[in-house]
Amino acid sequence: MNDLIPLVNKLQDVFNTIGSEQIDLPQIVVVGSQSSGKSSVLETIVQKDFLPRGNGVVTRRPLVLQLVNTHMSSLPSSVSSDGSVNEAPDRAEFLHLPNKQFFDFEEVRKEIEAETARVAGQNKAISRTPIHLKIFSRNVLNLTLVDLPGVTKIPVGDQPTDIEKQTRNLILDYILKPNSVILAVSPANVDLANSDSLKLARHVDPEAKRTIGVLTKLDLMDAGTNSLDILSGRAYPLKLGFIGVVNRSQADIIANKPMADALKSETEFFQSHPAYRAIAHRCGTNFLAKNLNSILMNHIRDKLPDIKAKLNSLIGQTQQELSSYGDPSFTGKAHRGSLILQLLTRFASDFVAAIDGTSAEIST
Ligand code: GDP
Ligand code: MG
Repeated sequence: MNDLIPLVNKLQDVFNTIGSEQIDLPQIVVVGSQSSGKSSVLETIVQKDFLPRGNGVVTRRPLVLQLVNTHMSSLPSSVSSDGSVNEAPDRAEFLHLPNKQFFDFEEVRKEIEAETARVAGQNKAISRTPIHLKIFSRNVLNLTLVDLPGVTKIPVGDQPTDIEKQTRNLILDYILKPNSVILAVSPANVDLANSDSLKLARHVDPEAKRTIGVLTKLDLMDAGTNSLDILSGRAYPLKLGFIGVVNRSQADIIANKPMADALKSETEFFQSHPAYRAIAHRCGTNFLAKNLNSILMNHIRDKLPDIKAKLNSLIGQTQQELSSYGDPSFTGKAHRGSLILQLLTRFASDFVAAIDGTSAEIST
């Protein structure tokens, strides 16, 4: 069952490579206002410092982040002379740099910055063209997450006067897709009624079926107040619920607080807090990551029949197009066409096989 997410990732790669947006694949889309804690949530999930940061608009292109768990997988690992297994080190790859592997996550951050500037310019403008990044690690669960520019109100730098509308439209493009699960981030120290992410989510998912709420900055609430009514689902109903997290503060980041320590402090925060102690087991980043993994898997399973049908019709179309080129061994266009067909058919049949395997698993 857990194989479904890597399989969807592969399909995503194929469609990205051939520049096709014809299939809406399941993914988790992170939405929130600027500084609500989106990047922090992603970094804590990945357990790495790798996202560009700074004041103001930092995320200026969509970042499609595929997390691949390498623990117990067949990915490269070696056995030492003493018999112990050396697991492959955590690494990252960008789709736009197919032959390069990154082992230093500071370099990953620099590459995201450079690639953002290359397409969106040096200043604050945003671009719709996504960056695709894959992270292989023992410490992640299989997940596909999309980080988007935050909702802003006032243009800065090179931003056009309609930046709010542009950002909003970009976010809407992603969350309108029925196969997107919306991870709506809201800071706990701002009234939920003013949450940009929930407003946007409600717009495209009025029944709140595919929105999961994340409440950040629980440590920054006014003394004597708490968010128990939100976290327990009484204040704002979402079918997938709300999960509270505590990310690193700006001071923690400046002091280079390690991710593992941040997770520990987060656990301690919930376990020792008088209001959250009783629900501590369903709070925090680890619980969020587990929950997202199972939400994504269930979501993919629900959408399988539909994806399968679309794939089959796409294969049909491609085949027809291919035969219109005549003898496939001659023209360049035909060569490209046959390559696409081969890729598509290979992954599509893997996928269809996995779907059938899963249905068998479900029905037994
Ligand atoms: P983004 O703009 O939504 O990506 O927000 P960031 O993740 O960059 O966070 C903005 C600022 O809020 C940073 O200085 C973070 O350190 C801080 N921050 C985020 N989440 C928390 C939290 O849960 N607690 C505290 N104290 N600070 C947080
Ligand atoms: Mg950010």
